[in-house]
Amino acid sequence: MQHLPESLSHHRVSTDDLNSVIEGDVRYAPLKSLWFLGMAGAAVIGGVYFFTWSGLLLFFLVTGAVLLLGHSLGSHRKLIHNSYECPKWLEYFLVYMGVQVGLAGPLGLMRAHELRDYAQRLPTCHDYLRHGSSFWKDAWWQLNCELILKNPPNIAIEPRIAEDRFYRFLEATWMLQQIPPALLFYAMGGWSFVIFGTCARVTAGVLGHWLIGYFAHNDGGMHVEVRDAAVQGRNIRLTSILTMGECWHNNHHAYPGSARLGLFAGEWDPGWWTLLLFHRLGLAWSFRLPKDLPERAELHSVDRLAGAVLQPARYDLREARFVKPRLACYFRQLRELRNSAGRLRMEWPAGTLNLKPMRTLVGDRVELTVDPTLDLLVVHHDARSFVGLPAVCLAMAQRNLGTWIVALILMPMAVALESVRSAMSLRPVA
Ligand SMILES: [Zn+2]
Ligand SMILES: [Zn+2]
Repeated sequence: MQHLPESLSHHRVSTDDLNSVIEGDVRYAPLKSLWFLGMAGAAVIGGVYFFTWSGLLLFFLVTGAVLLLGHSLGSHRKLIHNSYECPKWLEYFLVYMGVQVGLAGPLGLMRAHELRDYAQRLPTCHDYLRHGSSFWKDAWWQLNCELILKNPPNIAIEPRIAEDRFYRFLEATWMLQQIPPALLFYAMGGWSFVIFGTCARVTAGVLGHWLIGYFAHNDGGMHVEVRDAAVQGRNIRLTSILTMGECWHNNHHAYPGSARLGLFAGEWDPGWWTLLLFHRLGLAWSFRLPKDLPERAELHSVDRLAGAVLQPARYDLREARFVKPRLACYFRQLRELRNSAGRLRMEWPAGTLNLKPMRTLVGDRVELTVDPTLDLLVVHHDARSFVGLPAVCLAMAQRNLGTWIVALILMPMAVALESVRSAMSLRPVA
């Protein structure tokens, strides 16, 4: 048998025959297909017939809630990867929310995830398992069919999960679990709420899960390559809020056990922010981060940023020279910039903007340095240092009167966002 990476020896999936993830047929799965098409049909037809603005608002609220709390934090980061600790009641609540996405029961979802994860790390696997077909064929396959492997590998789920009575109950009844919220929505707002709060939510969850899965294995940026793997994970920019951070799939392929998915500057990760909030409330702890995971010889950096993830933060923001995000202090700084000719110095990791667009934004008078080891943008002026969006506003303000006025207008929002970020201290916590 071919030499396989050491990391696969601790996987829930095991096989002696590499063909076991290659040979198989994709077959129409009537129940899966009817579930999705039924929900989608009800959402489209019912959505027109029973349209209300409050129904649409409910759709956004509950879809966001089940994707964040359920799919990302419950099913994926906790149940499947066990990347953090939390009270058992919270784990049950989050996994219950995960079932509300309408993809599968907790055990079925775990089996599907693990098989895919294992197969994708082998040198080759069936196109179904790596989203390797054309867009439309993959849509048909993933939303309406199942893969029947000739000789499927063994998937061993630990008794803590496989024998848990609550998870077994959810597994047996996952489709029926849409009924309790549907009844609640009916009582609250009639058929409009049922259609938008249940049918449209399940449709968006199932369709979105496939869409992101397709692009996350076909199209997008990479920091780290997993050598000799059947497919690479891709980071899909601009979908971080929509996916609650799950879009940083290249990071996930490199560090599957990490509780944080957006690992580099500019990679927003609402799931991780929520975990930090839970941490503040004493509801989550022992986060596993890339530095806590066993080394994998098959990982290979493909961009300058990749090496930076494991390095400690360059600056300690508790240092006195770092200015706290307070609006009055930033307005004072803006006023000073109009009067003094002191030069600003900016350092940033170039996660979102690289040198040229940054030069365009702030002009020629700011000294610019790209430093991939930073996790935040920093601007130094005299003896003071500023971070984040307010720092960008300051740098922009010194350019000319026009940009100064724009910075003045944007500053309150920038300071508000920076306050939230710093209050939650978006840095790795112990
Ligand atoms: Zn993947
Ligand atoms: Zn995963």
